[in-house]
Amino acid sequence: MELKDNQISLIIDRVLKEMNNRNLNIEISEGIFNNMDEAINAAEEAQFKLSQMSIEEREKLIVSMRKAILENSMNIASLCVKETGMGRVDHKYLKMKLVAEKTPGTEVLKTDAYTGDKGLTLVEMAPYGVIGAIAPCTNPAATIACNSIGMIASGNSVVFSPHPSAVQCSLTTIRILNKAIREAGGPENLITSIKEPSIQSTNDMINHPKVRMLVATGGPGIVKIVLSSGKKAIGAGAGNPPVVVDETADIKKAARDIIKGCTFDNNLPCIAEKEVIVVEDVYENLISEMKKDGNVYELNEEEIEKLARIVLVEKIENGKKKYTINKSYVGKDAFIILQSIGINVSKEIECLICRVDNSHPFVQEELMMPILPIVKVKSFNDALKLAVEDEHGNRHTAMIHSKNVDNLTKMARAINTTIFVKNAPSYAGIGFGGEGHTTFTIAGPTGEGLTNAATFTRKRRCVMVDSFRII
Ligand code: NAD
Repeated sequence: MELKDNQISLIIDRVLKEMNNRNLNIEISEGIFNNMDEAINAAEEAQFKLSQMSIEEREKLIVSMRKAILENSMNIASLCVKETGMGRVDHKYLKMKLVAEKTPGTEVLKTDAYTGDKGLTLVEMAPYGVIGAIAPCTNPAATIACNSIGMIASGNSVVFSPHPSAVQCSLTTIRILNKAIREAGGPENLITSIKEPSIQSTNDMINHPKVRMLVATGGPGIVKIVLSSGKKAIGAGAGNPPVVVDETADIKKAARDIIKGCTFDNNLPCIAEKEVIVVEDVYENLISEMKKDGNVYELNEEEIEKLARIVLVEKIENGKKKYTINKSYVGKDAFIILQSIGINVSKEIECLICRVDNSHPFVQEELMMPILPIVKVKSFNDALKLAVEDEHGNRHTAMIHSKNVDNLTKMARAINTTIFVKNAPSYAGIGFGGEGHTTFTIAGPTGEGLTNAATFTRKRRCVMVDSFRII
């Protein structure tokens, strides 16, 4: 296979970045340690100190963390894009802001009380202790900031395993948060990690006896690993969100919303629109509306084929064609992806749309690139059938654009996803332009849904017999 110049430069870029990471002169301070054992011991000591503080004091730490995230959001966003080569600074900034403003704190911790002839029983939400959290390279800082707020609000400390290709931005975020906690009167090392995270160190963390809960935000591999650990584990895994458009939709708005959702952070979010299934009556109209704002490029058949050969890696398994994603293109700008097949367009182009069959790998694989495949079907029922198939049982996210109440309801039931967004971009589902709190750890496989402080707790019951009842 021959490599084109820009493919070679993408590979060199990636290798250099990884070498760079290894050569980082990372300082051992503000929660960063040499090895997992030290990081976990420090987090354990910090969690004990946190347990001695009142909930009001704990909330002050959260307020300080929110402030620090807001103050540093632009710098962190730039660092993430610079280091990983993925996503967009403007959108990563918005994600950090969203985390600071809409991640719940201690207010979601609720106590249940039962009183009766036999007295009073309380059920309280208690911390696990030290949580081991694994973060993805596609969304390193926002995941770390969001997890940290929720986990500390519920009285835990947290040890992070960042992705090895997002070390600097992850550790910087941890340092900033720890400093904010100290400045608000909290203990050192409530959030810890190590200077050279690796697959081995993640496994050390998973198997460490002092880590009592695991939270994995990433692909199916890491979710399976934490679920096989024998510990309480929360798995926030991959998605492949379909969006259905029927003939009753406001097509102009649907087109805009879909492009906005699909291009958000260059399609890195697990919730972002990954394929559109549209009924034939409005198919042409939807595509022409998509192209009106000047930020969309429609690929022709030849270009689709060329691009598929570059962004996907084909292999034969048990006589069947299988595809994996060429990671060099994940989260890249649309105009850069186009350059790889020799097409130069302006930087204004944010999204590459293409007309394909439902079986096309652009539909079936979770690309995490601003490439949007569009599939034409005869009826809403056909669209729904394909959407269910394309979601692959991830139970993650799906969208619909429709004014037909029956269709809206039918899809909500059939698709069975954790997030279902009607008539809006996907990100409305995580509180960005929609109601409800935000999170960047959406636990579909293990069922906790949109995680928050309450998710990171264990229930403890206290029973007082024959007393404390007031009637
Ligand atoms: P990834 O699975 O490659 O890595 C995620 C994390 O797991 C990283 O820290 C990585 O180092 C670690 N990891 C992966 N394999 C491991 C192994 N064998 N042993 C030990 N550690 C291992 O995913 P990524 O590319 O960083 O992130 C993208 C994926 O995450 C996508 O599939 C996306 O849908 C998913 N994601 C899900 C959510 C959610 O809330 N459900 C949020 C963000 C991303």
